[in-house]
Amino acid sequence: MTSIIKGIHYKTEQPVALEINAGLIKTSTTGNGVNPNQFIAPGLVDLQINGFKGIDFNEPVLTEEQVLAITQALFEEGVTRYFPTLITNSDAAISNTLNVLLNSCSQNKHINESIAGIHLEGPFLSSEDGPRGAHPLKYIQNPDWDLFCKWQEIAQGKIKIITLAPELPGAIAFIKHCVAAGVIVAIGHTAANSEQIREAVAAGARFSTHLGNASHLVLPRHDNYIWEQLASEELWATLIADGFHLPQALLNVFLKVKKNKSILVSDATKFAGLKPGSYQSHIGSAVELDASGKLFMSGSPKMLAGSARSLLDCVDYLISTRLDSTANILDRASLRPNELLGDTRRCGIKEGNIADLIVFERDAGTTKIIQTIKSGEVVYSL
Ligand SMILES: [Zn+2]
Repeated sequence: MTSIIKGIHYKTEQPVALEINAGLIKTSTTGNGVNPNQFIAPGLVDLQINGFKGIDFNEPVLTEEQVLAITQALFEEGVTRYFPTLITNSDAAISNTLNVLLNSCSQNKHINESIAGIHLEGPFLSSEDGPRGAHPLKYIQNPDWDLFCKWQEIAQGKIKIITLAPELPGAIAFIKHCVAAGVIVAIGHTAANSEQIREAVAAGARFSTHLGNASHLVLPRHDNYIWEQLASEELWATLIADGFHLPQALLNVFLKVKKNKSILVSDATKFAGLKPGSYQSHIGSAVELDASGKLFMSGSPKMLAGSARSLLDCVDYLISTRLDSTANILDRASLRPNELLGDTRRCGIKEGNIADLIVFERDAGTTKIIQTIKSGEVVYSL
């Protein structure tokens, strides 16, 4: 079945009509009768998301219905591909979540097409306070290839990204194994020295996970892991541009230095998409979500308790800073992550590419999703 999607191309700003057939963009021609306020852009891709709308991928009670609920809630936010992110946990808990995710993929086409892979963030991370962030110390451990292979077997190869601390014993050999197996390695939650960062890059590490966050409060001014990752030509960087995790000047510098190798991630917790209020985190601490979307430890507004903003919210925040053009910012949340993943048929609105698209309007500083199209099928309409 053929369908036509019309709108203003987000980059050329010209009216276009896209003929969609069998999940692909068949033709792209000049559109007639296009609503001048409705834009078309590629669907958003979130490389790091821990949960949404009250559901956490890391809770033991996760069900297939909940994975479907998250997938549909993300369609409403313009996200057409995402990586459920599993944080440091026990072997049993990680294995259980992988099983639930796998079952969810095999039971539902939309889930299967939307989960581009699983991101394992831990347990091979720094145990130091600061770099460790909120990852539970008792489950932090050194890289263990056999354990990873066990998880990858449960996941049937769907673990596509692993974030690790390269200074841990055995980490460099572990990175090389991952590269050979086609798993993308990210550097994060690390206390590595500059040489260890360089060794990780030489071994094949591809990007920095939420650069500038999960780090020590105070660092040596010249020789430190942030400068080293920033200076690396090879490393891409993911950034949490939610308005709380990185000050504007730092975001500005990261975007200038990393240019087209910077990617926006939500790193959203399950509190994203919920109303402001007081909540309990899954590790039992009381947290507060205020009206601006800031999530912090109850009674300590300076202590962030993770992110509670969607990827679309991060796009809107970055647009509001005027640090970059709207088209470039959308690319950082859609086309760039697909580039990093090597998915060339999802890089932009081109004939022959897979039709993962959003139609949106800009309204009072926010992006209002009108339609989300997943593999050619309308999966959300306002
Ligand atoms: Zn993290």
